[in-house]
Amino acid sequence: MNDRLVLLLDVDGVLADFVSSACRLCGHDPAEVYSRWTPGDYAFEKLLGMTRNDFYGAIDRAGADFWENLEILPHAKELWQFCRSRADAYFCSTPTRDAGSLPGKRAWLAKHFGRDAPASTVFTEHKWLLSHPHTLLVDDRDSNVESFRDRKPWGGHAILFPTISNERHAERNDAFEIVKKEIEAWTS
Ligand SMILES: [Mg+2]
Repeated sequence: MNDRLVLLLDVDGVLADFVSSACRLCGHDPAEVYSRWTPGDYAFEKLLGMTRNDFYGAIDRAGADFWENLEILPHAKELWQFCRSRADAYFCSTPTRDAGSLPGKRAWLAKHFGRDAPASTVFTEHKWLLSHPHTLLVDDRDSNVESFRDRKPWGGHAILFPTISNERHAERNDAFEIVKKEIEAWTS
């Protein structure tokens, strides 16, 4: 029996730079968008002057290419290697409803983390279903972390990866080091 903790690592916002690519796709300079961002605000499509439907409509039209060509965040490979050294690590990602999203995400994972990476990925928009006392989720979305921790009757463990769009925005400049220490604590 393997008694190592299972670790689920979110992709968009934690490993992949969704925001910068989405800004460029919609004709905006990411740095300019960040300069207008109220930290903690999740709905950044407002800063692009778009409704949520229009925003995701633009991403859907870009298809698999959008997801496959997301930039990788600088800490991504080191974070993944660290997770693997501490636990049974898997990627965990939510495809959009568009048919191109899933193959695009699979291609991105294979490109940056090797051809076996898509097979080590759980694709779901219901991450809370994976909640378990022996499982740790690392994710940048407040609601994913809350529902994972709150799952009755047991509740899993979850670390909110600090970004400008979540409750831990004040820690975002040191996100990688902070989260590494927290993963280390959970897996010791
Ligand atoms: Mg995310």
